[in-house]
Amino acid sequence: MTYNPELLDKAKRHPEKQKNPDRPAGRKPDWIRVPAPQGKIYQETRDIVRKQKLTTVCEEAGCPNIGECWQQKHATFMIMGEVCTRACAFCNVATGKPEALDKLEPLRVGVAVMQMGLKHVVVTSVDRDDLPDSGADHFVKTIQAIRMKSPETTVEILPGDFRGRMEDIDSVIAARPDVFNHNLETVPRLYPTIRPGARYFRSLRLLERVKELDPQQFTKSGLMVGLGETKEEVGQVMDDMRAAGIDFITIGQYLQPTPKHAPVEKWWSPDEFKDLEKMARRKGFLMVSATPLTRSSHHAGDDFAKLKAARAEQLAKQAAE
Ligand code: SF4
Repeated sequence: MTYNPELLDKAKRHPEKQKNPDRPAGRKPDWIRVPAPQGKIYQETRDIVRKQKLTTVCEEAGCPNIGECWQQKHATFMIMGEVCTRACAFCNVATGKPEALDKLEPLRVGVAVMQMGLKHVVVTSVDRDDLPDSGADHFVKTIQAIRMKSPETTVEILPGDFRGRMEDIDSVIAARPDVFNHNLETVPRLYPTIRPGARYFRSLRLLERVKELDPQQFTKSGLMVGLGETKEEVGQVMDDMRAAGIDFITIGQYLQPTPKHAPVEKWWSPDEFKDLEKMARRKGFLMVSATPLTRSSHHAGDDFAKLKAARAEQLAKQAAE
C-alpha cells in the first residue's frame, strides 16, 4: 500500500505509536484506488478552509475521498484543534496536549459554511478529555453560529462521547442538530486495542439518549471493517444499534494511515460489502451506506435528503396500516 507522505510526516505526532513495529498493509486492492485530488472547485474549497484557518478531518485523517468531496464543496470541519487527547490505533489525528479552545472558531465555521453555500454541513472534533465539559459547549456554540450565518443549512454533528456525562450530552442534543452522528467504529471485542480510551456501551448509550430526548433527531453511526472483526460480530453491532434506535449505519474499509497504526487484517471485497448492506437493511435501518470507500461524512448531504424521504415513507406506511 502507498502511504500519503504528508501522513507519514505526521507519524512523529504519534509518540505513543513509535514503539509499535512497522506492520505495512500490503498492496491496496484495485477497488480502493481513487484519482488524485484536483480541480477548480477543489482549490476554492481549499482556499476557504485556509483563509478561515479551519481544520478538516478530510485532511487530518487522509481521507481517500477528498478529491471527490472538495470538488463538490463538501468538507467536514474538525473543531477544537488538531490535537486529540486519545490515541485510537486507527486514527491519524495527532495525540497530545491540546491548546486552549479558540473562542472565535464557532463563528469562523459559520462564516465558512455561508461562504461555501453549503446545504448540509458535517462538524466533527478531536476528543477533549482535558476540558470539564469535553467541549460540549463549543459544539453548541458552533451549531448556533452555523444557524445564525447560514440558516438554511442542515447541521450534522459527529462528536466524541463526552466521557458519557449525561448533562453534557443533553446540552448538545438540546441544540437540535439535524443529525447526531457518533461512530462505534469497531466491534466491542476490539475496543481495548483499537479504541482504548472509549467504551462500547458508553457510545451506544449516547446514541440511545438522543432518541430518548428528541425522537425526531436522526441518529447515525459508523463502523470500519478490516480490523479483524467477523461478519457475525458486525451483525451483533447492527442489532445493538437498532436496539438503540439508530436510523443510519455507515460501513467502510479501514485504511492504515501509517505502518505504525493498526494493521489491515482483511480487505473486504465489494461483494462482501453488498452482503453487509443487505444484512443491515434486513435489520431495519432507515438508511445504509456500505461500500469500501464509505466514510461517515461521505455524501452526507445527499444521504440526509434520502434519510428524510425514507422516514416520510415509513410514517406514511404506518399511517395507512
Ligand atoms: S468523506 Fe468525509 S472526511 Fe472524507 S473527504 Fe469527504 S467529507 Fe471529508
